Amino acid sequence: MGWQKNAACRDTDPELFFPASDDDTSVLVARHRIAVAPICSACPVATGCLRWALDTGQDHGLWAATTPTDRRAIRRARLAGTPDPVADTDPMCPACALLFPMPAVDGDLCSRCTERNAA
Ligand code: SF4
Repeated sequence: MGWQKNAACRDTDPELFFPASDDDTSVLVARHRIAVAPICSACPVATGCLRWALDTGQDHGLWAATTPTDRRAIRRARLAGTPDPVADTDPMCPACALLFPMPAVDGDLCSRCTERNAA
């Protein structure tokens, strides 16, 4: 997670990004979202943050100002073949992009699929 060293939230209270509830409809989560939005929108590593949260299945907290419900919706869309316009900006491996979004290598297969095909 090399992107973390440049995170705009690095010196911010972590509790701001981890509300006591994951209920998107609660006032508490709404307040936290409002508080983190300007931090995340100015963050230079927001894309990497969101991608990491999606790819590792983070089920708690606000990552790149997204809630767990937001991220589940993005993951469902990915599985249905719709890449996320923020997290999936890099060209994805055509062989595994839907289940394991991995950056393509020179527009070809990712290293995992290259190894799998060579075996
Ligand atoms: S996008 Fe938000 S949560 Fe992610 S590293 Fe940046 S400031 Fe932190």
